[in-house]
Amino acid sequence: MKTRVVVLGAGFGGLELTAMLSEALGDDLDLTLVDQSDSFVFGFSKLDVMFGRERPEAVRVPYRHIVKPGVRFRQEAIAAIDPAARQVTTDRGTYEADVLVIGLGADYDVAATPGLAEGGYEFYSVAGATRVREVLPTFSKGHAIVGVCSAPFKCPPAPSETALLLDDHLSARGVRGACEISLVMPFPVPIPPSPDTSKALLAAFAERGIHFVPKRHVRALDPTRRVAVLDDGSEMPYDLFLGIPKHRAPEVVVKSGMTENGWIPVDPRTLATKFPGVYAVGDVTSVGTPKAGVFAEGAARVVAQELIAEIKGGERPAAYAGAGSCYVEFGANRVGRVDVDFFSGPAPTGTYTEASTAMVAEKRRFGSSRRVRWFGV
Ligand SMILES: Cc1cc2nc3c(=O)[nH]c(=O)nc-3n(C[C@H](O)[C@H](O)[C@H](O)COP(=O)(O)OP(=O)(O)OC[C@H]3O[C@@H](n4cnc5c(N)ncnc54)[C@H](O)[C@@H]3O)c2cc1C
Repeated sequence: MKTRVVVLGAGFGGLELTAMLSEALGDDLDLTLVDQSDSFVFGFSKLDVMFGRERPEAVRVPYRHIVKPGVRFRQEAIAAIDPAARQVTTDRGTYEADVLVIGLGADYDVAATPGLAEGGYEFYSVAGATRVREVLPTFSKGHAIVGVCSAPFKCPPAPSETALLLDDHLSARGVRGACEISLVMPFPVPIPPSPDTSKALLAAFAERGIHFVPKRHVRALDPTRRVAVLDDGSEMPYDLFLGIPKHRAPEVVVKSGMTENGWIPVDPRTLATKFPGVYAVGDVTSVGTPKAGVFAEGAARVVAQELIAEIKGGERPAAYAGAGSCYVEFGANRVGRVDVDFFSGPAPTGTYTEASTAMVAEKRRFGSSRRVRWFGV
């Protein structure tokens, strides 16, 4: 009988995992990939949508394009997970698994920040980014705040990128002189593992007159008075608030009893959970790397290699390195890169490659190579 592998979530983690299993094992495996959505969207595409560089419809890659032989994609909403029995219930049926992999990502809890829904805009979802895209052209004077409401949050460079791209956007419209931009972040510097990247970002903020507020997060908005209240009780008046909402594990994951302190704990070397035959990869875990696609993908590769070794024989994978490259938009059509490594040494490290126009093409290749690999488009 074929091994039944059920992968929950067709994000960076789920797509890479199923692609690798398909390539190594093809039809020798009974492989199901479940996601409630009909399409995949790269995280960075939300910035493209928000700043009008791409249309919201154009950034969706439909799952019907999944080309990997042996991958059975099911568009279903997962309603319950029993990790001990490795059983999954969806709105359409039930799955029994020999191996279960949870890659359900992180959801947003906008309501956790009082006033955010009424007085500000989150831009971390496609719907949120689309709303900001409509509002931005009407913002021509006053104070814009890009504010992180809670940590951990996806893609730590994204708030810095947003502030710089907002500067570009307002400058292009000739209204930058009438606007202020502030960036509120819970870190002492923009990218803590990489002093050089942080230095480059801080220099870019200084050059463009972006006010960086470190070691703070936004606790609440008061839409009537139009002020953002920070965690130390201080207040910042705003005219436009672009917020990174509190993140949380999807409800169905919390209900499954797999989470501790909000996220699924895993063995950082193998991504195994405490339930036999159950792994978790990507944003849904507390593995110790930032919540970013490259890390979800790297974790998925380790799980895939482990399963391939188990089923087909052969070399077991080395421990998960927690390493990956993140591209950082600096505005003015320049992109930098930070190569971070979380687990090799005693402390995380990061190497910075200076922002350039050449790197724009490299970032584009990062996206297109995944599109070709997972979807053949
Ligand atoms: C603005 C922004 C910019 C970013 N830029 C980058 C970047 O440049 N580089 C980078 O590496 N990362 C970036 N990221 C982060 C990246 O998008 C995420 O970290 C990554 O997608 C996480 O992968 P994952 O596989 O863990 O989860 P996800 O990709 O989030 O996938 C989870 C999947 O689970 C599905 N799901 C959830 N609940 C259910 C349910 N109940 N039933 C069925 N399906 C369900 C969802 O539909 C989703 O498809 C960015 C994020 C944002 C918001």
